[in-house]
Amino acid sequence: MSNPQSAAVVSSPDGRNEEAALSPKLYQPTTWNLAFVQDCNLRCRYCVTGYGRVGHSSKFMQPEVWRPLCDLILSMSAGLKTVSMDFGTGETFLHFDETMQFMDYLRDRSDGTGVKIEAQITTNGTLATVEQLKTCLEKKISLSFSIDGPAATHNSFRRFSDGKPTHRIALKNFRRYRAMVSSVEDAPECTVSSVVAGDARLRDVARYWRKRGVKQYKAIPTEKSRHLGCFQQQELQVLRSRYLEDLEEIATAEVSRLQGGELLKNFEGPVGILSAWIHLKRAAPCRSCGAGYSVICVDAEGKLFPCQGFVGFAERSIGDVRAGVLPAKLAEFRAAKSQVETQCNGCWERFLCDGGCCASDPKNGIVFDTKYGCEFAKSHAEIALNSYQIWRGHVKDEGEDKEAKAIGSRD
Ligand code: SF4
Ligand code: SF4
Ligand code: SF4
Repeated sequence: MSNPQSAAVVSSPDGRNEEAALSPKLYQPTTWNLAFVQDCNLRCRYCVTGYGRVGHSSKFMQPEVWRPLCDLILSMSAGLKTVSMDFGTGETFLHFDETMQFMDYLRDRSDGTGVKIEAQITTNGTLATVEQLKTCLEKKISLSFSIDGPAATHNSFRRFSDGKPTHRIALKNFRRYRAMVSSVEDAPECTVSSVVAGDARLRDVARYWRKRGVKQYKAIPTEKSRHLGCFQQQELQVLRSRYLEDLEEIATAEVSRLQGGELLKNFEGPVGILSAWIHLKRAAPCRSCGAGYSVICVDAEGKLFPCQGFVGFAERSIGDVRAGVLPAKLAEFRAAKSQVETQCNGCWERFLCDGGCCASDPKNGIVFDTKYGCEFAKSHAEIALNSYQIWRGHVKDEGEDKEAKAIGSRD
């Protein structure tokens, strides 16, 4: 599952179809977050979505919802080159066959429209069979495995409902899919995402992935779950400080190791810091939060939300798959988002933060976690800036030009 509160810091650097998606008049999302499955077979103690159920009962998207959803996706994608389906919130492999039927139906319908449909599933890796992994490979579906590094760390939080540990099977399936994608050309991605929680340290997670040849991975400190309430704010503060301390160490060591060499190809570590460096290198402001612009979310019942951070809160819905996006609701959300973003005026970190996450308290409205969220975002940006300056100190003009082209060609 994703971690909405941290998305502002760790999101992908590539802003696909950014101009069309950010037009104030149009709403042409390039990323559809699909809560296709609102349930999970694990009971991770820090789960921010409450085992995928976001405060409600278990739900699975059915054909009477996903068929009109396909029509809506295509009607809102005219003229776009690529549109991405991101399956998160719960464990999609609980409802795998239906998910594949949806993907086939959507891709069939998109034939001849010029819109390419990409897909990514975030999975805990405990349910996928070999056959299902092969199906994902054939359909070019990227998989992001949620594995928290070393077995002891992972198993202290990520367990089955009967209390049994999950590390072994998750790692086995990650390795299987990694081997599959490395054997074909133009393969989908196989990535890992680690949550750093409890007494775990980012540096141990980093060491673990380096030893296993995983160069780049997502790693974020755990957040307070709205649905489980398992951590006190003070504990999270201590955890974040340790995380930032380790991140600084990793970033400084990495820029010294790279000696001004290519960032994208050679970087080893958490992608959040790499993403910030790339924005600094391109002098391009970070556009990480696309809620209500380049992003939209659909729950299992077909309700629409500005992004995954609002799922579960019916009062934040902006329409449904049959009626489509309700203009008045969308306008209301955009106005409220704009209003809270005025708090960022004059903030030195604006360039790398893009206004933070406005889904910090969906029950009470469109609001920032200005206290803890901003503190973390600012420290993260400071580490990125300081380490980037060290890297710049090593750069030779020729190498820099070459890499600027490589980064540009990814857009
Ligand atoms: S794998 Fe864990 S964190 Fe992810 S949805 Fe399931 S219980 Fe939550
Ligand atoms: S005030 Fe600064 S750190 Fe906080 S959300 Fe706005 S830009 Fe980010
Ligand atoms: S409001 Fe923006 S940063 Fe927050 S969860 Fe939604 S998309 Fe992510």
